[in-house]
Amino acid sequence: MSVKDQINRYARQERVGYVGAEGQKRLGESHACIVGVGALGCVSADLLVRAGVGTVTIIDRDLVEMSNLHRQPLFCEADAVAKKPKAMAAKDRLNAVNSEVAVHAHIADFSSGNALELIGCNGKPDVLIDGTDNFETRFLINDCSVKLGVAYVYGGAISTQGSAAVFTPGGGGEGGPCLRCIQPSPPRAGTQPTCESAGVLAPVSSIIASYQAAEAMKILFGHDERVMGSMLSFDLWEGTRSRIELSSAKDPECACCGLGRFEFLEAGRGEPQALCGQNAVQVSGGGEMIDLRRLGGALEGVEGFGGFEVKEYMIRGMVEHGGERFELTCFADGRAIVDGTVDLGVARAIYSRYIGS
Ligand SMILES: [Zn+2]
Repeated sequence: MSVKDQINRYARQERVGYVGAEGQKRLGESHACIVGVGALGCVSADLLVRAGVGTVTIIDRDLVEMSNLHRQPLFCEADAVAKKPKAMAAKDRLNAVNSEVAVHAHIADFSSGNALELIGCNGKPDVLIDGTDNFETRFLINDCSVKLGVAYVYGGAISTQGSAAVFTPGGGGEGGPCLRCIQPSPPRAGTQPTCESAGVLAPVSSIIASYQAAEAMKILFGHDERVMGSMLSFDLWEGTRSRIELSSAKDPECACCGLGRFEFLEAGRGEPQALCGQNAVQVSGGGEMIDLRRLGGALEGVEGFGGFEVKEYMIRGMVEHGGERFELTCFADGRAIVDGTVDLGVARAIYSRYIGS
């Protein structure tokens, strides 16, 4: 790409008052880490890559499905048919959108055991962006944000409603409130609506992700002072919005940013879990990296394992268990998805038999 093309590329963005050539240069040297490339993460990643953020790290554990396409604009039908990992499909699309941006994709389950490593493995980011769909992961991102002193751009969208906020806890008890200052613990499992139970309209996730991207840009352009100091909530169906001020929400007794306890980072590795809205179970594995080519070779002769494909980032094939057939997908981090069941025991048994305990 010629220098002239590069200058033209961001001309309309630089013309915006507070951006200018200096802001654009800072953006080009900055690093955004996006945890989850579902509806929120797809939109914020697309906006930030188009804007010319220097480095974007994306982390996601899931595979693209047809039911994602109405709201996740980085993916197409071919990705869903191929059940491509979202991180890889997103990276391919983002590279095509802007080849100047370094996009690092990690197919991984963001968990206590790997969160800091995944966030930091391409250098410390300047901002952490929430593209997740569950509170456990949000509290884990919050722990990372406080521990690293990196701003956390929160977002959530369900049905016709959504919320966005920025937490800038700084480090060592300094800075603004964190997520746990306003909500000390995650809601109990099963008590909150999910995209599966309540659905979600794409304009809702898109507007929330756009707010997130705008707030992230303020930080990355070097205008932290313009970051909104409140949590903003919308109901697009009702046409209403509300604001909760965060400026006085800092709690000196907050377990995380006040007392320095990182309970979500210190939690153990998860048990097998049924994936939301899918007839599938995820098994975490032991946290060790797996040599997929070696595993593929070893599985070649195993009875009941057939028609598998080995790629640099995953191995996938049909397996037999108890007279039924399931699809097994295993990733390099030892994690696997067993498709065709919601029975955690069956998934664990298949994992032990074909991959090892
Ligand atoms: Zn706090």
